[in-house]
Amino acid sequence: MSTQFEPILTRNVGVPNSEKIDVYVERGGYTALRKALKMSPDELTAEVRESGLRGRGGAGFPAGLKWGFMPRGDQTKYVCINTDEGEPGTFKDRLLVEHDPHAIIEGTIIAAYAVNAHRAFVYIRGEFFLGIKRWIKAIDDAYRHGFLGQNILGSGFDIDLSVHRGAGAYICGEETALINSLEGKRGEPRLKPPYPAQIGLWGKPTLVHNVETLANVPPIVDRGAAWFRSIGTERSSGPKLFCISGHVRQRGNYELPLGTPLREIIYEHAGGMRGSKPFKAVIPGGASTPVLTAEHLDTPMDFESVMAAGSMLGTGAIIVMEEGTDMVKVAQRIMRFFMHESCGRCTPCRAGSSQLVATLDRIVGGKGKQGDIELLEDICGHIIGNTFCPMGDAEVNPVLSTLKHFRNEYEHYVEHKRPISA
Ligand code: SF4
Repeated sequence: MSTQFEPILTRNVGVPNSEKIDVYVERGGYTALRKALKMSPDELTAEVRESGLRGRGGAGFPAGLKWGFMPRGDQTKYVCINTDEGEPGTFKDRLLVEHDPHAIIEGTIIAAYAVNAHRAFVYIRGEFFLGIKRWIKAIDDAYRHGFLGQNILGSGFDIDLSVHRGAGAYICGEETALINSLEGKRGEPRLKPPYPAQIGLWGKPTLVHNVETLANVPPIVDRGAAWFRSIGTERSSGPKLFCISGHVRQRGNYELPLGTPLREIIYEHAGGMRGSKPFKAVIPGGASTPVLTAEHLDTPMDFESVMAAGSMLGTGAIIVMEEGTDMVKVAQRIMRFFMHESCGRCTPCRAGSSQLVATLDRIVGGKGKQGDIELLEDICGHIIGNTFCPMGDAEVNPVLSTLKHFRNEYEHYVEHKRPISA
């Protein structure tokens, strides 16, 4: 039985001209902002903390806690909207930016008001041409309607927002690399701590949030924390946009409560497998999350359950694979991506990713040697826990998880110099 669910994040998607401010306002947009401006920043922070909203960019950090980490007082502070969606398999933020930019702007203004920041930046992938256009137009219109600028809606609160285009580096989706890039520096992560809430953009406290996270804020303010908590599970509350790709009938974005079983998402919402071949494996949260198998199909898609199953909810990007998919090639393709996207700052990631790709290329190319599988494991062991940012730990997941569940495919390659299915 499919989960029946009133769309929240996608309530305006599909409505003609949903990106326009008049349509957004007509459909109840910016009422949450009016309500928020009558609340105190502390009340707002408490409401978001109570809602249990967790970051939707991959890490799942509680949003209200992040707001609470920002220092109080009048010093200069910033808010950054992370629109650098680059995790392979993920295309949810793009949908929101293109179809409902005002929902994100409204969420951003509320967040800025709660932490008393007067300057906000959109950091967007340079390749998101339509998204950039929509952001700029929406921000212009929000200024014209008095939602942005000086003394917004007569509240005495000032907030400016502008768009900064990135150059398409995966690592700039990491908050400190994003901040470096925004400052005009090379997009490399910074050491944490200090966290951006302490020392961020130009050395000032900075709140960085993913697009989908901010889009959840107006409905929370409008309808309250208790309503939000009634959706999803106890520790993973609210709606989630799941991006489904791969060997299913209906690929796309599906908004469902956190905790919806993986099987239901694949077989009911996405229409099941695309052809006659049965399900083989799934990457549940974007390319950097470990592969799961048929035994995990009943996993509820929430932060805790996916972790307990041995993977991560990540961005909610579900990549489905049918029987016959070459899992060694899957690992090879994903590792090539990470090798290309390694920023090069630390040796285990820079050299390790190249070594992993070289070994996988040799195995897939029919030149694998005895000991190559152990070599892959050894290289991964030297990367885990030894890199400057979390990308190191993440990039080994596709290799280690395919080795865990499909080791026989690697062994077949090394022994017979061809894939198991050939
Ligand atoms: Fe750069 Fe990789 Fe090191 Fe992160 S782990 S800092 S991406 S080289």
